[in-house]
Amino acid sequence: MRELLTAHFGGKVSFAPATLAEHGRDEGYPETRPVDAVVFAQSADDVSLLLELAARDGFYVIPFGAGTSLEGHLLPLKRPTVSLDLSRMDRILEVSPEDFLAVVEPGVTREALNARLRPQGLFFPVDPGANATLGGMAATNASGTTTVKYGGMHQNVLALEAVMVGGQRVRFGRPVRKSSSGYDLKDLFIGSEGTLGVITKLYLKLHPLPAHVHTLRVFFPSIVAAAEGAYAVMGSGLPVARLELLDENALKAVNRYLGSDYPERPALFLEFHSSTEAAIASETSFARELLLEAGADSIDAAASEADRKAQWEARHQAYWALVRLFPERAYVITDTAVPLSRLPSLVVYAQTLMDELGLVGSILGHVGDGNFHTIVAVTDENYHLAETYSTRLVKRALELGGTATGEHGVGIRKKKFMAIEHAEALDWMRKLKEAFDPQGLLNPGKVIP
Ligand SMILES: Cc1cc2nc3c(=O)[nH]c(=O)nc-3n(C[C@H](O)[C@H](O)[C@H](O)COP(=O)(O)OP(=O)(O)OC[C@H]3O[C@@H](n4cnc5c(N)ncnc54)[C@H](O)[C@@H]3O)c2cc1C
Repeated sequence: MRELLTAHFGGKVSFAPATLAEHGRDEGYPETRPVDAVVFAQSADDVSLLLELAARDGFYVIPFGAGTSLEGHLLPLKRPTVSLDLSRMDRILEVSPEDFLAVVEPGVTREALNARLRPQGLFFPVDPGANATLGGMAATNASGTTTVKYGGMHQNVLALEAVMVGGQRVRFGRPVRKSSSGYDLKDLFIGSEGTLGVITKLYLKLHPLPAHVHTLRVFFPSIVAAAEGAYAVMGSGLPVARLELLDENALKAVNRYLGSDYPERPALFLEFHSSTEAAIASETSFARELLLEAGADSIDAAASEADRKAQWEARHQAYWALVRLFPERAYVITDTAVPLSRLPSLVVYAQTLMDELGLVGSILGHVGDGNFHTIVAVTDENYHLAETYSTRLVKRALELGGTATGEHGVGIRKKKFMAIEHAEALDWMRKLKEAFDPQGLLNPGKVIP
């Protein structure tokens, strides 16, 4: 394989041990498994050529974006495996403000796209906590803090182009806001984790930057009161644009990390976007009433950009504050989502279970979508307890009618829940995988058990 790849890709292929290792790990899985080669694609033609060679010679391929996934998505499970790094396919091909549309290569990061859009008064809303590539975000159906208002990748990718095993390039969907034309194969690719084809172009839906933005930071005496406050806001139909939860441990970590003195109590962070000042004032005042009724004991509001930034600092720094609390430990991040009414009970379960297992960690998340994470600090000795914790939490989420993963995807770690969650539908997923990739060459062993 070495000679074959070198002959076809020359300087675009690497066998350097450090590069092989970097491409066989991710941010949340405890193990590194170096891949056998890394090809840095610079065009869809490079991708086509690699997938043509893979089909002919029978080697495995794992697409790679920014490597920020958390569930073992990028680790090779079969040999030989080539990591197909798409980060050099990073051109923004077109921005059409009149159609609220951008066309990008898969290696463009969300921050790079937004830097280009801002002067035009536009933005792309999907904002996972890492600066991921848009191809990787589509492949994991990423979402983030604004998903409660603007949707995740399913809602914001209008069409895409992918290269199939064998090298064929196919466009799925058209860049329109709605369509009833044929089977929706575009959506099949969103969340497919590199197991069906390699995304080489994305047509993205853009949004105008909101004219008025208000934020609220709200503290509660208990996490259940905070979760119930979140549910009350969602149940009211208020058009909230962000609704995030931090528990008291996250705020303690932030205070230690930043030297700040935030109240060390559970908190909600809310944001409202509107085109008129009057609308936003009435929305935030109604939200205040609901939050006070739910037991909020301190609410502060911010409207100017500087004040909003200061107010949300704790939310933005929470992950880094937590992982720096015990720099010598590893962190296991869980990710579940449940119907909104079940969120308070799952949050309480998550906190109680953490105490019961004697784990140190924190709860935070996008509670407006019924989605939250726990971040658990582990040592080699108690890593197994974090796995127990994650398994029990997911099982409880499934019992409550929820899903094993709200946004991080399946990778390796969540495969064991697929049969419980999807029942008969899992057989249809297997048939689809077989139809798209009959030799099983693309990211083998992921998503489907
Ligand atoms: C600090 C931190 C915070 C995070 N917060 C969030 C969050 O709020 N919301 C969220 O959704 N996620 C979050 N994540 C997880 C991660 O950022 C997302 O899953 C992201 O979408 C991964 O994108 P990536 O470019 O890093 O992809 P990678 O990690 O490189 O790849 C992810 C998967 O997509 C496949 N893939 C990559 N590119 C392509 C392509 N072009 N075609 C086909 N398949 C491809 C890969 O094979 C792999 O299976 C967070 C991660 C970290 C480290």
